[in-house]
Amino acid sequence: MTLQFAVDAVVLDIEGTTSATGFVVDVLYPYSRSRFAALLAERSDDPAVTRAVAQVRELTGDVDADAVQIEKTLNTWLDEDRKATPLKTLQGIIWSEGFARGDLVSHFYDDVVPALRAWHTAGLRLYVYSSGSVAAQRAWFTSSPEGDLLPLVSGLYDTENAGPKQEPESYRRIADATGIAPSRLLFLSDRPGELDAAVAAGWHAVGVRRPGEPYFEQGVGDHAQAGAFDEIGITSTRSTT
Ligand SMILES: [Mg+2]
Repeated sequence: MTLQFAVDAVVLDIEGTTSATGFVVDVLYPYSRSRFAALLAERSDDPAVTRAVAQVRELTGDVDADAVQIEKTLNTWLDEDRKATPLKTLQGIIWSEGFARGDLVSHFYDDVVPALRAWHTAGLRLYVYSSGSVAAQRAWFTSSPEGDLLPLVSGLYDTENAGPKQEPESYRRIADATGIAPSRLLFLSDRPGELDAAVAAGWHAVGVRRPGEPYFEQGVGDHAQAGAFDEIGITSTRSTT
């Protein structure tokens, strides 16, 4: 092992760390694009859909926009990668149903699932902290290529229940929620700003650098780094009972 830590829990970033960032753009975006029209036509009574449609009309200022125009707006936002709330809401519905139906299977790098299983077996607790919503995280772990991984995970955190990923306060909030001392928490992420924030909150952190990911070239500054999860060794006191 290149790196060795004595901690009680590992907190995982998803995009760029456990999973390929490109999967979202290459697989999930086209899937949502193909299903906006059906969702708008078949589910106009669903309160979440109704609210999202009202928000689209509000944001575009076109109060009379029909389903065709709404779909066009959603696709334009998708092309521009705009983080508009109604777009995120409708994508969330489409993706969670796609995963549940078996149309979609999430992505994990090959080294990740064996490490998660080994750490879980060793008595470590595993948590997720991702900018994707908790609902999306749940679907991601439930519908993995290796089956349901959700039983391995003790808790899910996003920007709603924990806060922005580059602020130390968010990491303090997660430590409080888990009841684990900051010095017994290890955060794995590909983004230097997130690693900085975790360390500022008293956590351990490892920068995960995978070829092809957006932050691979930039690197992770002074943080410890690993190319894959099998380079990270962890001893836990929780298992010695
Ligand atoms: Mg990331």
